[in-house]
Amino acid sequence: MGLVFRFALPLGLACAFVCFQASSAQQTSTAQKTDENPKAHIRPNDAGAAIPTRFDMLRGAYGPSRANNDLLYYHLDIRVEPEQQTIRGKNTIRFRMLQDGTRIQLDLDEALNIDKILLGDESLKFERDTGAVFVDFPQTLRAGRVYTIDFYYSGHPKETGRFGGITFKEDPAGRTWINTACEETGASIWWPNKDQWRDEVESMDISVAIPNGLTDVSNGHLVGKTDLGDGYTRWDWHVSYPINNYDVSLNIGDYVHYSDRLGDLPLDFYVLPEDLERSKPQFAQAKGMIEAYQHYFGPYPFAKDGYKLIEAPYSGMEHQSAVTYGNLFKNGYLGRDWTGVGISPRFDFIIIHESGHEWFGNAVSAADHADMWIHEGWTTYLESLYVEYRWGKDDALKYLSGYRPKVHNLRPILAEPGVNANPTEDQYFKGALMLNTLRSVVNDDAKWWALLHGLFQRFKYQNILTQDVIAYFNLHTGMNLTPIFDQYLRHANIPRLEVLFGEAPGTLMYKWDADEQNFAMPVRVGAEGKWQMIVPTTKWQSMKTALKKDEFQVDEDHYYVDLNKQ
Ligand SMILES: [Zn+2]
Repeated sequence: MGLVFRFALPLGLACAFVCFQASSAQQTSTAQKTDENPKAHIRPNDAGAAIPTRFDMLRGAYGPSRANNDLLYYHLDIRVEPEQQTIRGKNTIRFRMLQDGTRIQLDLDEALNIDKILLGDESLKFERDTGAVFVDFPQTLRAGRVYTIDFYYSGHPKETGRFGGITFKEDPAGRTWINTACEETGASIWWPNKDQWRDEVESMDISVAIPNGLTDVSNGHLVGKTDLGDGYTRWDWHVSYPINNYDVSLNIGDYVHYSDRLGDLPLDFYVLPEDLERSKPQFAQAKGMIEAYQHYFGPYPFAKDGYKLIEAPYSGMEHQSAVTYGNLFKNGYLGRDWTGVGISPRFDFIIIHESGHEWFGNAVSAADHADMWIHEGWTTYLESLYVEYRWGKDDALKYLSGYRPKVHNLRPILAEPGVNANPTEDQYFKGALMLNTLRSVVNDDAKWWALLHGLFQRFKYQNILTQDVIAYFNLHTGMNLTPIFDQYLRHANIPRLEVLFGEAPGTLMYKWDADEQNFAMPVRVGAEGKWQMIVPTTKWQSMKTALKKDEFQVDEDHYYVDLNKQ
């Protein structure tokens, strides 16, 4: 998701750090208040998990009324009225029953009205329970059969969450500017859907009627626009791939549009008129970004939908094939070197991070909020791959080193599954540092690049869990990496290398202090220019060394571990 981290703003990170608040016009003053000490801002969720609400339980669980069906298709067909700040319309939902049943669970925020739910001409009964909507069918729906219902709704969606979910704003020139960013709150804040992470439609149409003169940029490719003759124009977009609910987006404003191509891939850019000229050199970074990620993972995964960058009033969000951007048209994050090691001012953090989610987050998606590091840890690691592709491995390692002070290690990266739990911010930086460590454990870059490429190709367009990633790594390395993944993902502490310098000069004892009983991980120790590989376990071993205690180090650039020398 978009990002915003550790600012003196009540923002979070949901999808991305980057997914943030603050319009490009308004951001500057608040954005300067970034923390000098990144440890200073520990959000409540980093310190301890919130107790799930009833809605969290209904949102997070994949209960029987969800598991009995498989989504195939949505057609979200709505009219957005800026003056009234209302939406009305319907979502046509097509699904295949996996088991016989008479009830399915959909979701829509309580602030919105359900006008009717139809199966053909037949009006269906439903029951609302917080944000869940249980739809009842008069006859049993049969396993294997495909059904289509029309879910009509209307009302004023509430603004909530870090990015507002959906916001009815004005741009800096006072014109209508309506945007969505709802990863944290859930898409059902503004439209009815099966609002969970496990199941996605295979394709989608998005039709948005708005006052003439405005532009709506949603996901997918623009099919066309139709003047409805009543002062409104309908914009029709078609998404040719599976899509997360929270990626479905509206961007309604007085946008100007320009386009480019990268080979056969259409690149489309939408910005406010005043930002046209300054956007062009900045958005030119999209090409190099796509080339870098294609190098490591394979072709851009949504080729039929194209790639879009769209100006929005928050820092950024990875909306599939329609990435939103609010990074002030400056390099770094909101114009600053936000990892503090001199690398991030070379590129636009929001373009590089949010677009990286096209590969991890949008194409490869987590099946539960608890496993969101599959989006954020991977995409944060992708930033370092971009650096490596452009400027080499030394700079990539330096870039990653800037993330070390941002890790809290207060809670495990994996949150409680099935309760809509938000993982801690460590999923970003610690997740990336873990992957960099695994590269050193594999210790064979040709193998590592094949692993990354293979993992992406194996799981693209799928919704997976942490165990799928671990199983893939174990199978394709022939190693048992489970204790390493588990130590970093399922425990708060990172492994600590305990080193005892004995009475006799020239020898030392070492072992890992880790929560995982079977933790064993090779690591390079010694000193710059004199590294040697050892394979500590949780049992003491000894080695010879010519180094004195104060000279002895672990290779922190390649391994995210602690060291305790005694
Ligand atoms: Zn992100």
